[in-house]
Amino acid sequence: MQIRKAIYPGTFDPITLGHLDIITRASKIFDFIIIAIANKSRKALLFTTDERIYLARIATKHLPNIKIIEFNNLISHFAKKQKVNILIRGLRTVTDFEYEKKLSQMNKYLVPLLENIFFIASKDYSFVSSSLVKEVAYYGGDVSNLLPISVNEALITKLKIKQL
Ligand code: ADP
Repeated sequence: MQIRKAIYPGTFDPITLGHLDIITRASKIFDFIIIAIANKSRKALLFTTDERIYLARIATKHLPNIKIIEFNNLISHFAKKQKVNILIRGLRTVTDFEYEKKLSQMNKYLVPLLENIFFIASKDYSFVSSSLVKEVAYYGGDVSNLLPISVNEALITKLKIKQL
């Protein structure tokens, strides 16, 4: 029997319960999921790559079929190298859709075998993004219900260090 593998790529700076919701749902559909964490981004990153990997690892430790790998080039090339032709992405808004559509078509242009599977965000998390969570936490807002416990603690600590 063929093993169905998929890659869930992103910056995960940091992983939120919105990401975790997608991972949990996808882990029931696919035999194996690689969470691919980009080690650089055009967006300003708060956590280092090692920290983002560590936090994702803790948040997913209850799921048996997850592997976390860092990548530093194009996701389409990374997927080809991993011999995986399915990318998972999440859709929260029409803006996400517009962006993801272009991204998925570009990836297909680069690697024609690559397919995207989109998960519609759960209603409880469709307003959640790593950047907004960081911004709210920066100004002292409580985002603990939107993050895995260890991520919330790491975020508070990180912001304290930054403000010193
Ligand atoms: P990127 O920088 O590649 O967008 P992110 O880590 O911000 O990486 O997001 C990775 C993927 O997860 C994207 O497809 C994004 O739309 C999706 N995503 C982020 N937050 C949520 C959420 N709350 N619910 C569903 N999908 C989400």
